[in-house]
Amino acid sequence: MEKQKNERVKCLIIGSGPAGYTAAIYAARANLKPVMVTGTDVGGQLMFTTDVENYPGYPNGILGPEMMEDFKKQAERMGTDIRIGMVTSVDFSGEVNRAIVDESYTIEADAIIIATGATAKWLGLPSEQRLNGSGVSACAVCDGFFYKGMEVAVVGGGDTAAEEALYLANLCPKVHMLIRRDVMRASKVMQQRVFDNPNIIVHWNTETDEVLGDKVVNGVRVMNNKTQEKTELPIQGFFVAIGHKPNTDIFADFIDRDHEGYIITQPDSTRTKAAGVFACGDAQDKIYRQAVTAAGTGCMAALDAERYISHKEFMESQKKVENEVA
Ligand code: NDP
Repeated sequence: MEKQKNERVKCLIIGSGPAGYTAAIYAARANLKPVMVTGTDVGGQLMFTTDVENYPGYPNGILGPEMMEDFKKQAERMGTDIRIGMVTSVDFSGEVNRAIVDESYTIEADAIIIATGATAKWLGLPSEQRLNGSGVSACAVCDGFFYKGMEVAVVGGGDTAAEEALYLANLCPKVHMLIRRDVMRASKVMQQRVFDNPNIIVHWNTETDEVLGDKVVNGVRVMNNKTQEKTELPIQGFFVAIGHKPNTDIFADFIDRDHEGYIITQPDSTRTKAAGVFACGDAQDKIYRQAVTAAGTGCMAALDAERYISHKEFMESQKKVENEVA
């Protein structure tokens, strides 16, 4: 095994979505020489999105992966050291905060910015787990192509589910949307697009009882939660789009999180309970969760980190002067 490297940096950014890249752009311009450890999904959730029409500055819209490539290029041009890897654990208990990368080396940092985002949630059915990758997916953009011309189902009634159903409706003649209430949480414009699409069939008050199939998905048994009636739909693709869980478990011992795992930051700042550790993006925002708000909090985190480091350096230089005088 390669000998353990240890290094000390001014600013470490964990995560590479809009929050992480924006923090990197600001930190690099403030001469903090940021190092970014990307995580496994480089670019974050937008890498699994098609058109982004609501990010200012792109009048004709842009594909999610292309937008993230733009973010990356800008962060690199400013001087960010971008490293593909995973922070596997952290230690915020000592004088200096530490992160272990790929269980192989340690980065010590004056300031750490957490921008680890969130990951898709699953229903938790054993059949869903068993058939994951064999007809069950949490990403229509990644896997939809394999179901071209087939009948599929999407679970969820939020914007993600609506987006996934619309994407699939371009490929599949029948897309069943399984919605557990009698209303959709998705924005009105997305709801209208769903209702207007002849390939999408909305099933209200409908829950998934079981995903069917031996080796691959060949159906889903659903239950109407008003009538308790169960029916089977002959689908080949089952897409789960029921929200996200923040990727914050590795920080649990050192900073405060709410009951869903979102990092709690101090009001009007990105400061966490641990000195020198800041949090931004979907890891700490369960309300807005937009690319543009993630980018905004990424900017805030870099400004907070810069102020923290400046103050720390000033205090250390004062101490040095006092020691010399004494
Ligand atoms: P949301 O939390 O908004 O929606 C989750 C959906 O899944 C809800 O309909 C919820 O039902 C349903 N659900 C949750 N758990 C279950 C379950 N166990 N069984 C069945 N259904 C379940 O998540 P999204 O990922 O859709 O959106 C997250 C955020 O990202 C939102 O703010 C959204 O606006 C934004 N977004 C914006 C996009 C855009 O602007 N282009 C695209 C995608 C997302 P219920 O309503 O009953 O709780």
